[in-house]
Amino acid sequence: MNKRSMVRVIAASALLAALLAGGAGGTEGENMLPLDKLSIRIIYDNIDPEEGFEAQWGFSCVIGGADKTILFDTGGKGDVFMNNLAEAGISPSDIDIVVISHEHWDHIGGLGAFLEKNPEVEVYVPASFSKEFKEGVKGSCSGLVEVKAPVEIIPGVYSTGDMNGPVREQSLALVTDGGVVVITGCAHPGVDRIVEKAVDVTGENVLFIMGGFHLRGAEKTRLDEITSVFDKCGVRYCGASHCTGDESIEYFMERYGDRYVRLGAGRVIRGTDFDRF
Ligand SMILES: [Zn+2]
Ligand SMILES: [Zn+2]
Repeated sequence: MNKRSMVRVIAASALLAALLAGGAGGTEGENMLPLDKLSIRIIYDNIDPEEGFEAQWGFSCVIGGADKTILFDTGGKGDVFMNNLAEAGISPSDIDIVVISHEHWDHIGGLGAFLEKNPEVEVYVPASFSKEFKEGVKGSCSGLVEVKAPVEIIPGVYSTGDMNGPVREQSLALVTDGGVVVITGCAHPGVDRIVEKAVDVTGENVLFIMGGFHLRGAEKTRLDEITSVFDKCGVRYCGASHCTGDESIEYFMERYGDRYVRLGAGRVIRGTDFDRF
């Protein structure tokens, strides 16, 4: 056997081992979240608030229906974040895990105020976050987890990993028995790349993509390009908010029609809202 075919045999057996160990990145069903139990509560958003909630620039939501309750991002202003959280009927002690998408003020702003009330949480941040930020958080929570590669945070809940882009960012991919739900902060690496990454990491199609898409002033050709990637990845439902931009939001509303999901502080998105395909 020459050297090249030897390499090929080794590569093939590594692939076989990976497949036997649970699929090449696939979830094999055992860790899927029941879609019917999923709930996503928007805590912080700058558009379209529910009564009693304050709209300010930034994004945050709380995810229920997995083994642990996850806070994703914390908005821009600590007091607004804490008030909106209370308005949603969520106590800081209800949260088990915090995931921060990227190091922009409008996503990390409420973290300090939150950790003062509940320091007993693990905080997941992209490994590329500044040393100052990481040092500060490390001393005020039960554990700081630096994310580089994609990782399963708890059963059925994945981080896309620390993705490159104009700003480095991680997004969440929730694997449910109805498809993957992807949640972005600002989607600086590109919302299309994030959706593709979620498929790659979970081995499943995406049912619903939501969050900030960072598409202010985007050309229609760019939006068409994004939705064709969404189509390819199986996306059926879409909810765009925060930094997506009014005109781009209108584009997605038109494109998805009654499968467009409105976000805005105070809204609750339930797995039972979705049709299964
Ligand atoms: Zn933002
Ligand atoms: Zn941002």
